[in-house]
Amino acid sequence: MALAELEPLNVDEEYRLLIGGEWVAAESGTYEIVNPNTTQVIGHAPEASISQVNDAAAAAKAALPGWRDTPMAERCAMIGRAADLLEQKLGGLVGLVQGETGATINVSESIQIPSCADRFRHYETPVNVDDPIEPYPVAENPLGPGGLSCAHVIRQPVGVVACITSYNFPLVNMSGKIAPALAMGNTLVIKPAPQDPLAVIKMGEIIEEAGFPPGVINIITGSGAVAGAALVESRDVNMISFTGSSAVGAKIMQSGGSTMKRLLMELGGKGACVLTDDCNVDGAVGAIASVWGFHSGQICTAPTRVIVHRSRYDELVDKLTAVAGLLKLGDPLDRETIVGPVITELHRDRVEHFIASGVADGATLLCGGRRPDLPGYFVEPTLLADCTSDMRVVQREIFGPVVVVLAHDDDDHAVELANDSDYGLFSYVFAGTTARAFEVGKRIESGNVGLNSMAPHIHAPFGGFKMSGVGRDRGVYGLHAYSEIQALSWMSS
Ligand code: NAD
Repeated sequence: MALAELEPLNVDEEYRLLIGGEWVAAESGTYEIVNPNTTQVIGHAPEASISQVNDAAAAAKAALPGWRDTPMAERCAMIGRAADLLEQKLGGLVGLVQGETGATINVSESIQIPSCADRFRHYETPVNVDDPIEPYPVAENPLGPGGLSCAHVIRQPVGVVACITSYNFPLVNMSGKIAPALAMGNTLVIKPAPQDPLAVIKMGEIIEEAGFPPGVINIITGSGAVAGAALVESRDVNMISFTGSSAVGAKIMQSGGSTMKRLLMELGGKGACVLTDDCNVDGAVGAIASVWGFHSGQICTAPTRVIVHRSRYDELVDKLTAVAGLLKLGDPLDRETIVGPVITELHRDRVEHFIASGVADGATLLCGGRRPDLPGYFVEPTLLADCTSDMRVVQREIFGPVVVVLAHDDDDHAVELANDSDYGLFSYVFAGTTARAFEVGKRIESGNVGLNSMAPHIHAPFGGFKMSGVGRDRGVYGLHAYSEIQALSWMSS
């Protein structure tokens, strides 16, 4: 067992909120942050009062004119400086982010930290976000002399953006919002998830050193839904950029409606993974096993809903069962560990409940499903076969290390099963040729489809169909997401 050596965490360290450029203590005290592996308290997060949430929104509003009028090149240069600082300093946060998320040391070091600086790096170069529009001649008419009708269409920042994120990748999810929103000229109130906000606060300290003016970035934390709900209600907030469950997303859409909030909603997923009769099963097995090994399935884009051609069914489930048996579950600090804990006791119970419901509904439990004899919140890699589309385990997002398998008869049937879902975030097709995967993939109702591959293109638009979200980010789409379109028009004689 090769345990990673990390600096011990100081459980008494004081974490503060950032409001209008000042780091302040929370008015409602603090709450405990628990390590999902040890179940020990590793720190205390600030519990913001409602008036502090409102102060943060007001500070962001006050900072907006100055930041909006700062040339994009200067804004992007500051984002580049933030990327430099994150690359230099974020390594010091591996222990903290690992401790509060429970992610394995390999996932913490290779994803939780470096992807965060990358998200800033992507927006360090200014780009033209204005949309070209052709002038057109207008003949003289009773209402005017005619001439050349011209318009210039520009993108303005939306204003104050509240960024509310999920617990699974606290730094990455938040930096994916901060960087494009700031590049576009918005000011921010960021609110990380209650379970693991500490590294985000520390990331805020690092980003601040890049020189962002006071009030451009504000940080609020809290143990429940109160702080997020207050941001959604606030008249000072123009847009909610949300990453989280579809259920909370729907609530936000409802309560944000009265103040006409602009929305970017990055919600739940139940990724279909179609295997055609001529596919390379081994390639698909590696991708599907990532549901178990990659942060214990706590990933919205995971290929959890496997739809395999009947002729390859036995081969697939045999290989998946064999792989599941090889995955080491246990201490996330052990470099050989592949499967760490899920985030909380409550979530572990929820995942177990889903597995039991699958068996009760007629699925065959091929492996996993038991609670390991460990103090943390572990779920074994679980494989449920003989599933049908009407089962809860097939329809609902489990967000744990659980794979369900269904059989299909041909490509049409596979597409029908893939689309029999409320979700449509990231799906996958494994076929004998990329051309066949392409033909099947474009029929799947899903914002993204991986073809014989799990790897997304970093600049491709990311977002969901159906209950998986509204809007797109990444690349230039991220800048569009955080902008309002304005048309300035005139008649040239
Ligand atoms: P969650 O919906 O429980 O919480 C997300 C955030 O919403 C948290 O910060 C929470 O405090 C806040 N919140 C809760 N109630 C609120 C309210 N009424 N008003 C405003 N904010 C409120 O999600 P979670 O359990 O943290 O994360 C798991 C979910 O996130 C899964 O469904 C997963 O698929 C999804 N997710 C989606 C993406 C994506 O890009 N589409 C990425 C990561 C995670």
